[in-house]
Amino acid sequence: MFNNEEKKIEKAQKREEKLRAKEEKKEEKLRAKEEKKEEKQRAKEDAQELGFFARLLAGLTKTRDNFVKSMDYVFNGFTNIDDDFYEELEEVLIMGDIGVRTTERILEDLKATVKEQKIKEPVECKQVLIDSIRRQMNLGETAYEFENRKSVVLVVGVNGVGKTTTIGKLAAKYKAEKKNVILAAGDTFRAAAKDQLQEWANRSNVDLIGGSEGSDPAAVVFDAVNAAKARNADILLVDTAGRLHNKKNLMEELRKINSVIDREYPDAYRETLIVLDATTGQNALNQAKEFSEVTDVSGIVLTKMDGTAKGGIAVAIQSELNVPVKFIGVGESIKDLEKFNSDDFVKALFMTES
Ligand code: GDP
Repeated sequence: MFNNEEKKIEKAQKREEKLRAKEEKKEEKLRAKEEKKEEKQRAKEDAQELGFFARLLAGLTKTRDNFVKSMDYVFNGFTNIDDDFYEELEEVLIMGDIGVRTTERILEDLKATVKEQKIKEPVECKQVLIDSIRRQMNLGETAYEFENRKSVVLVVGVNGVGKTTTIGKLAAKYKAEKKNVILAAGDTFRAAAKDQLQEWANRSNVDLIGGSEGSDPAAVVFDAVNAAKARNADILLVDTAGRLHNKKNLMEELRKINSVIDREYPDAYRETLIVLDATTGQNALNQAKEFSEVTDVSGIVLTKMDGTAKGGIAVAIQSELNVPVKFIGVGESIKDLEKFNSDDFVKALFMTES
């Protein structure tokens, strides 16, 4: 009887111990979760504090982790520079969304340098390849000329790529530089487009010229251009509707807008930026090609570089279209737009000091 009682107590104690251990484990898990949350918040705050290069570095993390790591694997895994080495490298470049044609160009470049400099070690090819990519991405001297002149910047691109956000970020950037900025809500097709743009205009405290839903975009642009002239604006940023599925309409609409700007404001410096979503990889390249067929695109804005492992698309687009990437979006906040610089891009991508 007494023995039975003892056993019962022992059992109860064990159960209690078990429960306590479970409870402790639960608490520990909760604490770890809390700590992780705090850490994430700190990282977020740090990122907001980060300077230009660090933000770029952070934005390209996914691309670096995928593409660059695979590339290092090839450079370090091969002992000879042979066909197998080139083949493997080709695969990694194509998988990294560098594009078939650009990859060919880069590899040709590499093979020539290997021969010329009598390079024997695969690992030595890394720097040659980095230099080659950097050369493919040179902007040219007049890339940002529109920032120094009285200009009209037409912003094109399909819905959802980050067009409105980019215009908002650009407006904030130029306003902070004490420029007189005006926005034109040229996307009269979508009801929410103007409201969304108005929010960004309010945030940056810049003027917006718009029309009612369904009104003629060319008429909005007419008003905006005349307001820009009258108010001595430095930059007029024009949003446009992005309906690629109706190419004929789009072409006609852009033609009308372009001719209004040319006629009403012939002295303005013209810039046409296409906004592309980097996460869509090769699709972005196709969109750029299609828009280039309907209007003269002078620069590319690649958004969502922070959320993609396909950052290599920046190299492909620039080299295949011969249109420079001028800005990259590395996040959703107003500060997350960086001017493109091939040296910094390559440095951030490969995290190298050269
Ligand atoms: P629009 O339809 O082309 O005008 O696209 P929006 O400007 O409305 O953007 C679509 C979505 O993409 C929104 O949720 C934006 O916050 C987001 N977005 C835009 N640019 C970036 C970027 O550079 N990085 C990230 N992560 N998100 C972005």
